[in-house]
Parts: sequence; C-alpha cells; structure tokens
Amino acid sequence: MGRFVYDFTEGHRGQADLLGGKGAGLAEMTRMGLPVPPGFTITTEACRFYLASGREPHALADEITVHLAALEERMGRRLGDARDPLLLSVRSGGRYSMPGMMDTILDLGLNDDTVTGLARTTGRERAAWDSYRRLVQMYGSTVMGVDGSCFDTELDRARRAAGTDSDLGLDAAALRRLTVAFQAIVREHTGLDFPQDPREQLRGAVRAVFDSWRGERARIYRRREGIPENLGTAVNVQAMVFGNLGPDSGTGVAFTRNPATGRRGAWGDYLSDAQGEDVVAGIRDAVPLSELAALLPDCHSALLAHLNTLENHYRDLCDVEFTVERGRLWILQTRVGKRTAAAAFRIAVQLVEEKVITWDEALLRVTGDQLAQLMFPRFAGTTGGAPLAHGIPASPGAAVGVVVFTSAEAVRRAAAGEHTVLVRPETTPDDLPGMIAAQAVLTSRGGKTSHAAVVARGMGKVCVCGAEGISVDVAARRFTTAGGTVVAEGEVISVDGTAGRVHLGALPLVPSPVTAYFTGGTVPEEARELIDAVDRLLTHADQVGRLLVRANADTPEDARRARAFGALGIGLCRTEHMFLGERRRLVEALILAENDDARESALAALLPLQRQDFTEILQAMDGLAVTIRLIDPPLHEFLPDRTELSVRIATERAQGRAVDPHDEQLLAAVNRMHEENPMLGLRGVRLALVVPGLVAMQVRAAAEAVLACRAAGGDPHAEIMVPLVDTVEELRLVRTEIERVLRETDEDLDVPIGTMIELPRAALTADRIATAADFFSFGTNDLTQTTWGFSRDDVEGAFFTRYLEQGVFRVSPFETLDLDGVGRLVELAVREGRQTRPGLVTGVCGEHGGDPASVRFFHRAGLDYVSCSPYRVPVARLEAGRAAVGTGTDL
Ligand code: PEP
Ligand code: MG
Repeated sequence: MGRFVYDFTEGHRGQADLLGGKGAGLAEMTRMGLPVPPGFTITTEACRFYLASGREPHALADEITVHLAALEERMGRRLGDARDPLLLSVRSGGRYSMPGMMDTILDLGLNDDTVTGLARTTGRERAAWDSYRRLVQMYGSTVMGVDGSCFDTELDRARRAAGTDSDLGLDAAALRRLTVAFQAIVREHTGLDFPQDPREQLRGAVRAVFDSWRGERARIYRRREGIPENLGTAVNVQAMVFGNLGPDSGTGVAFTRNPATGRRGAWGDYLSDAQGEDVVAGIRDAVPLSELAALLPDCHSALLAHLNTLENHYRDLCDVEFTVERGRLWILQTRVGKRTAAAAFRIAVQLVEEKVITWDEALLRVTGDQLAQLMFPRFAGTTGGAPLAHGIPASPGAAVGVVVFTSAEAVRRAAAGEHTVLVRPETTPDDLPGMIAAQAVLTSRGGKTSHAAVVARGMGKVCVCGAEGISVDVAARRFTTAGGTVVAEGEVISVDGTAGRVHLGALPLVPSPVTAYFTGGTVPEEARELIDAVDRLLTHADQVGRLLVRANADTPEDARRARAFGALGIGLCRTEHMFLGERRRLVEALILAENDDARESALAALLPLQRQDFTEILQAMDGLAVTIRLIDPPLHEFLPDRTELSVRIATERAQGRAVDPHDEQLLAAVNRMHEENPMLGLRGVRLALVVPGLVAMQVRAAAEAVLACRAAGGDPHAEIMVPLVDTVEELRLVRTEIERVLRETDEDLDVPIGTMIELPRAALTADRIATAADFFSFGTNDLTQTTWGFSRDDVEGAFFTRYLEQGVFRVSPFETLDLDGVGRLVELAVREGRQTRPGLVTGVCGEHGGDPASVRFFHRAGLDYVSCSPYRVPVARLEAGRAAVGTGTDL
C-alpha cells in the first residue's frame, strides 16, 4: 500500500484515476503556474480502502498531518490559530465528474475562537460570521446528518426578523445569533456539539466525502451515466480564499466557450461579494462574465488569459471555478467541461478549424449517443409541472398527442390529421398500424427492449414503457395514474421519451433541425453551424470508418429514409411484416389448407404481393445490397388469439347460436399449432423445412422482383438470408431449394445465399455452416436471448431493474452487446467462418447494430457491416468512424 496524500505540486493531469478529475486538474494548474490556492489531495485509493473496510487506512492521519503542516508553512497561517486561522475547503472529486452529487465543505477551521481572528484579520466581522454560520450549516447537514431544511427554516426566520429577503440583509450580529441557533439545532438533532477542534472537523469532513460516494444521489447518477461503482472518490483539501470580503471580491464559474450552444468566446457567471456554491446554487442573481470587465478589469483580463491558457493546454473546452479575493484572482478548479450534444459537435469542428485538434481527434470528441439526442424533437424546457407518470425512457424525443387506446383509433384519428399517443398495457405486432400512426407509445408494462420499445426505436418514435404507476383500462378507454388522476381517450398528454416522463396537456416542442437536414426538410438559420458540424464529422467518419452501415428496413418508405440517412444497403428486410393487415387472411388460408391445391392457391395469392414489396424496396435501394430474410416467426402468430377465439366460440355456443365453421377451423389450427415457448419452437428455417412451398414462394417473389427491376433499367442486388439455423444440414436443405427456385426463375440470377447466426450452436459450428453460406449476419437479439437463456419479452419487465441495481450487469445485454459471452461467440464465428471461407462477408442485424458501444466492438471483431434501424444509421456511421480512429474517452 503506497501513500494516500499528494500535494497539488506533486501530481499531474494523467493521474485522474488516483487523484480524481478535480485533484488532477488542480495539480496540473499548479504545475502550469496558474494562481491556485495551495492544498493536497487524498487519493481514491484511500476512499476504496475506507469503503471496503469501514475505516481509514492507518497511515492516512499521519500523512494528512505532514501535508497540513506544509500547507500551514506555505500559507503562514495555522489551522485553529485563534489570531489568524488557516481555513480549508474540503471537496469530493472522483475519476469522472459527478456535478453536485457529493459533498463539499467550506470554511473548515472556524470555531467560536477563530471566527474572531478571521474577523480581525479580514477586517470584516460580518463576513467572518457569515462564513461560520455556513460551516455549521454545511457540516451539520453533510457530516452530522441534520436535515438541511431545519437550517433553512431558521435562516428564513432570521431574514424575516431582520426585515430582509436576502442573506445580504443580515448584519454581523444577526449572523452571530444565527450561528448560535444553528449550533443549537445541531445539538438538538444529534445530541452532540458542533466540533470546535479543527482537526476533528477535518476528519469528519473527509469521512463524509468518502461516505457520500455511497449516497443515493451519487448512486443514481452513476447508474445513469454508466460510471463504475468501485472507483471511489478523492478528497481535495485546499486553503480557503474568500469571495465575500466586499465589492472587490466575488466568485464565479467560467467556460472557455458556451457549453450550451457551442458559441465561441468565454462564457460564465459572476457574483460579487459571495462565496463558494452561491453561483451554482443560484441563491442570488449572478451577472454575465462580461460585466466583470467593468467591475474588476484586471481580474477579467487575467481570467480570460487563464481560460485561453487552459483551453490551449487541454485542447478542449474547459470550465473553471474562480474566486476574487480583494481584487486578486484565484482559480479553484478546472476540468474539461461538460457540454450539450449540440455544443459538442460545434466545438469539435471549431477546434479543427482553429488547428487545435485533427479531424480524427474531433471524431473522438462527439458520441453516437449525442448525435441520437440531436435527432429527436425535444420539449422546449423542463417545465410542465409534476409528471402524470414515470416509466422507462425507451425511445427518446418528445411528442404531444391525444390519448388513444387501440391501434384502430390511432389510425382513424391520424387519418383525420390528429396527433395521438397510443396507450396500451403492452403492444403486440397487431398494434403496428397504430404505432405507425401515433406520435408516441406509452405502455404500463415491458422494458427497454419490449415490443413497444424496439419497434418505437426502430421507427424513431417516442416511447415510454413500463410506466407501472398507471393502470390502463382499454375497455373503458382510460388510464388511471398512481395519484388517482383519470385520463380518458381524447385528452392531450405530452410524452418525454428522453426523460421517461408523461405530462398532462401539451408541452411546447422544438423540432430537431438535424433530422430535418437528413430528410430534406427546412433547417433554421440558427442551426446552420450545428448542421455543418454534423455533416463534416459524419463525412470524416465515412472516410475513415471500415464498418459499412446498412439499415433494417421492411418497406420502401423505410428504405428511402434509410438512404437519406446514409445507409449503404439493407442488412435485414424482415418479410413477416408483409403478412400483416389484410394479407393475414392469405396466411390463414395457407395454414388451413387441407390439400396441395388449396395451399398453392394461397401461396399464389401471396406471391404478387411479396414481389411488389420487394420490387419497390430494391428500387429504393438501387445499386445497393438488400438482404431479404425468409419468414421467421411461428405461423400461429398470424392467427387470432387462442383465448379470445375460444371465448368467442364458447359464448356463441352457450347462447345457442351457430358457430362460424371458419372460426372452428381456426381454433383447431390454433390449438394444433399452440406452443408453450414459441421463441424456441417452429420458426425460422424450421418453418421453411416443414411448410411446403413457403420458401419457394418467397424466393420466387424476390427473384422476379430482381428481374422486374432489371427490366426497368435498375441495378438490384438482392440477397437471401435464412433465419435461426442451428446446423449446416438445415442450411444445405434450404439452400438446395432456394437455388432450385432461382435457377427456375432465371439461369443468370446472381443472388448470394447466407444465414443468420443467432443461436449459440450456429456460432459454435460456424466453420461448417460457412460451407453452405455466402455470408453471415449475426442476429444478436436471438443470440443474446439464447446465450443467456433470457426470454426478451419476459425478463426485462420482470427483473432487469433488480439486476441492474444489484450490479449483475451495468447495462441490459439486449441494449449493449455482452462482450464476455455473446461477443465471444461472434468473434469465434467470424474467425472460424473465415477459416472455411476466406473473405466471408459478415454483418450484424440485431438491435445492437445501432448501439454505439456495440458498434465499436463489431469493428474490433472484424465485421464488414452493421445494420440498424434507419434512424440509427447516422449514429452507427459516426461510431464506425470513431471505432476506426481510436477508443474515445467516453466510458
Ligand atoms: C435477431 O435475432 O437479432 C434478429 C435480427 O432477428 P429478429 O429480431 O427478427 O428475431
Ligand atoms: Mg432473430
């Protein structure tokens, strides 16, 4: 075990793991000669020791004593010296910035004696008592656990007594009385006195910072941001400087550029005669940084110079907290600043233009998640009162519409030009028309990859799912919130898919100019620089990226949209969606067919419909590959619901009415085809092998579509893909049939025949499967289900929240590919498949194809392409480029 304390003069920016981001920044600024109040950092290692063992390392107290003595020496003041006390700030600071999530204590070292010394040396009695009351307040709440509102109530009372509504209106005597009252509050709530010994204060403060790593706020923040639980925080102990010593003092925050919009030029807030957190907390109105130029011109120009130095040094947007103490500027902290998605894109390109970074580096300064955020419409602000309900933010963006409870109603109202929100307990493929018609989908059940979530994301539609607080009564056409509010069909709600919140009424919306740019809509003037930045960064990503990006698209409209978003082909055209709606009757006829003639006539009726679909899709993707996947889901999915049908027939019988023979036939088929676990039942290639004529019809439709496109002068590139293959034998049999149909249709057709790799056995026998496959496409949805043994539709709602809370995994394996398990199967299959067939084309078409972290893995695994929903295509393009130039700095 090494040392646990480093002076600011000892560290540097590369030590963020050990010293935390803040500690590393303070050390770096100290090295650069910036005016940083001296101090030292207690390492994250000390925190980890504390969290693991419940006590500080033995050596820590002595190390702190040594560094404190050096600090006292440098400052010429001593902690606890009643005549001229040294005061300290104690701040948390982990590897990743967690703004406001953990504790800070200022003015440490004040007590009933030193407060007088401070008043004398500063000549400001009021400021001394103000600092002391703040210490008792902060220490009382964060270290001693007193409910902070007790202090607020007392402060209000003091203000009222003094006839003022600002703490500036309290004089020294009032603040002294307040301090005494605060000490009494501490005693009353804890049975302990506020500690007068500054060393005891320091011990308590350090421990509180360690403990705050485990606090609720911090935990929630880490989970949301994907910050590992086990890093711990460092503690920065720094000599206090005072911003509350009169009009030539103050405190502020400054950014080297605007972090909200990305505009060039320093940006920030300044608060005169104030201390510490006042600016951030918004207690009083701060003034724009530019006004500091008029108030204290020397400080202002020094600050701008330091901002410049820092930005050049870190080669990125930096933010600083600063304090002016009697006309002298101090920098209290710096870091590479957080910024909005829009600012990230603009700043990255500005820095390239300013020759600070290269295009490759610029790519690493933005993320696919940020681009995704920029593509969804948003609510203009965070107003809107208390939400009606909370759920899982399944598909980001913002939408307003009237509540409807059935797919048909959504379609009907959409046809009449109304915006709707489809509210269901959960959705099924039957709801697809309604989901397409609606602006948003809200469900009370299901997780982030439930049907509603996956389909909504695929369509770029807003979705909040699993809003368990609401109960949806479809029959009565209303839902009831946890608070008892009843929302009936036709009422307007606002759905925030980014935050997972639902509000009553219409919150104002702002459209995304980035999506408008891709889809040829009008782009507002003020978004030009942002659009230009997105365009240039994507262009660079396309140049350097090795992974190609295709789209999952089942309709000509989707195909056109995918092209507009930059897709280079279709990696998955699911054909089952073509059997829904009116066409379902034809599938019913196929299933119910009692002889070859009946079956063939059902298939013959489906053929032209499929051919037309394929033709239009191939035309929309002219010149690019279109991978047509043979039908995958079990056929009974196209039949009516078993219970509903049984109840209908039983009711009719009970009422003595004649039962429709077609219904009876259907029920017999439904019963015959019923499966306990359809996901593992008769689907995919298995259907192709047991339902005569089905594959032939699909392949013929595809082949004829190719011929039709060629005849029209097009350049179609169809590929046929076989789903759910377990063994090469299955693929061989189907391949023979596909080749026969292709030959029959036209001798010269060149249609590659490949397979999905979406079962562990297929991955493990990829060397053999490659003998019969022209390409592999990893179906990582099914591969994740079957590798983990998780039924996607069941587990997410059931226990994923618990798993995430308990740290079984940090992110759902359906969202980001599980590298340790599923990822290894992918790597193995790519490697062994290519051993059999060098140059074998490999891609992925599961949901992971549009997930930034997964895309980076697919790049490393050597895949040729990813395929994702059209709206995710720009995200995948960006990530493919980022993967090619480096790992990036995001988690
Ligand atoms: C998959 O399993 O990853 C896949 C793309 O197929 P589907 O989601 O249609 O089962
Ligand atoms: Mg699948």
